[in-house]
Amino acid sequence: MVVVSMAAAAAPATASAVSAAPSAPQLATSTTTALELPRRHGVPGGVVAIALGASPTRPEARAHGVPLLVLGDPQGWTALVGIALSAKPGTGAIEVQRAGKPAARLTYKIRSQQYAEQRLTVAPRTVDLSQEDLARYERERTHLAQVITTFTDRLPTALRMQQPTPGPRSSSFGLRRVFNGQARNPHSGMDIAAATGTPVIAPAAGRVIDTGDYFFNGRTVWIDHGAGLLTMLCHLSAIDVKPGDEVATGQRVGAVGATGRVTGAHLHWSISLNRAMVDPALFLRDDETANK
Ligand SMILES: [Zn+2]
Repeated sequence: MVVVSMAAAAAPATASAVSAAPSAPQLATSTTTALELPRRHGVPGGVVAIALGASPTRPEARAHGVPLLVLGDPQGWTALVGIALSAKPGTGAIEVQRAGKPAARLTYKIRSQQYAEQRLTVAPRTVDLSQEDLARYERERTHLAQVITTFTDRLPTALRMQQPTPGPRSSSFGLRRVFNGQARNPHSGMDIAAATGTPVIAPAAGRVIDTGDYFFNGRTVWIDHGAGLLTMLCHLSAIDVKPGDEVATGQRVGAVGATGRVTGAHLHWSISLNRAMVDPALFLRDDETANK
């Protein structure tokens, strides 16, 4: 949510993504449409794909009780798991319920990733909130904690997305930020540098589930792509959609701005998968990553 220089940022190791998935890069969904998976990266803030095997009906899979995105067909199902930035390296686990079978526990490896740290000295009032600002922030935090629990049964139409606004992307996902010596939440999205007024589009099809003007995030649009995959677009100068609107890939939802706690105009883009903020770079289409 703050602008960070590219030099200070840690480059996410998207090129060395480790696949925990079956060998086939494409998975057939039940509608027989092949969905290209996101790049896999078994680290905090990354995504893993776990093979669930064959089953006549779609298995239910959960991580810590949170429903997971399950793709595939009766010949083979796969669960996609977003790994929280706060996850500890080691072994992660999911619970799977297949038709007519006892519940199973499957594990996956979470490798460590050292994200860069950024130490900033800023005006004290931007770190120590006033009583009024703190109360507002707490209300909004409760609301947003509710928004992120959204899980709809429909599957995403794409797992590879279009960059939501043109411009240079920072590699600042996961950056650990320390303001005036106080540790803050790590940067949980991608910042894209663009001028105020630049159109912001839906990176994939979905339904708008929340819009608002929030203390830190400024004017914000949340899009539900289905099955616990959500997009959050922040600091907008304009919002052109409302909750309930269906949006197509590439459809305008607003414009870049500098609303909320920012030092300049840019788009902040977060992707939440099973309530974990994961690196949006893992979900970019290959043709998008080529023209950085
Ligand atoms: Zn940001």
